[in-house]
Amino acid sequence: MTSVIDGKAVAASVLEECRAEVAELKAKGTVPGLAVVLVGDDPASHVYVGSKVRTCADLGLHSEKIVLPAETTQEELIAVVQRLNADPAIHGILVQSPPPKHIDEEAVVRAIDPRKDVDGFHPENVAKLALEDPTGFVPCTPAGCMRLLAAAGVKTAGAEAVVIGRSMIVGKPMALLLMAKGSDATVTVAHSRSKDLPAICRRADIIVAAVGRPEMVKADWMKEGAVVIDVGINRIDDPSTKKGYRLVGDVAYDEVAPKCSAITPVPGGVGPMTIALLIKNTLQAARQLG
Ligand code: NDP
Repeated sequence: MTSVIDGKAVAASVLEECRAEVAELKAKGTVPGLAVVLVGDDPASHVYVGSKVRTCADLGLHSEKIVLPAETTQEELIAVVQRLNADPAIHGILVQSPPPKHIDEEAVVRAIDPRKDVDGFHPENVAKLALEDPTGFVPCTPAGCMRLLAAAGVKTAGAEAVVIGRSMIVGKPMALLLMAKGSDATVTVAHSRSKDLPAICRRADIIVAAVGRPEMVKADWMKEGAVVIDVGINRIDDPSTKKGYRLVGDVAYDEVAPKCSAITPVPGGVGPMTIALLIKNTLQAARQLG
């Protein structure tokens, strides 16, 4: 029997934990605050930012949504970040990715006070993750994947885990989390230059796919009973739907699911976790900043 890991339900339980933490912080006189900065008019980014701000409102966090025109310069954006760094009502700062092409995202991330870097992308937080220092911020998507594994009762200790993808946002931090003390998986990280990816995946007890290629991972890449976490969010054309497209993951769900012991669906798997962990990180920042 395959267990379908319900990301919406797990995310809802994380958000309920957050609700209790918000009440505790408020009782001590701190209203946790998140600022989300959006440059330009990418429609998907507007949707993500909207739902982050709505979640803050629902949980009683203070939030600030700053929308800047697409022609904003890097210096202007960094000036906004610096103002937020100095604002005591703001504990978490997030600059929605991707910014317009003329902006160096790396430079903007480095301008964020690492104590407010709730995305966990600042080099100081990357180092803290590698050092297993719990005062750092763990990137939200891989942190969400770890929560899903825990919620599904998956034992990571000693497991062979294969992470497909080595981005700083998902693949690399995911690999660090899986190999960290306490998780104790044996981790292989695959990428576009890996040889014979199906053979690498067939070794895995746990596969985390974070590639951005629709339905790439097939059933014959899998060991019977493996656990699959599908991070991918890909739009594919589908004239039979109202919108003319649908979302699929990096895993060919219909053929892979019957072989798995547990799998995350797309949508409704990893996606809802990212925002829940963002709130969690903001509360951590509020506690640490006092
Ligand atoms: P990136 O494009 O930054 O990284 C993709 C990785 O996949 C790279 O390391 C790349 O290798 C590797 N790759 C590409 N093609 C292949 C291939 N044919 N075989 C093996 N590896 C390959 O993507 P992200 O990490 O940012 O995102 C990955 C997916 O996750 C996307 O679909 C994205 O939409 C989704 N996502 C979902 C989130 C959520 O909330 N659920 C949040 C963030 C991302 P190389 O390094 O060699 O180029």
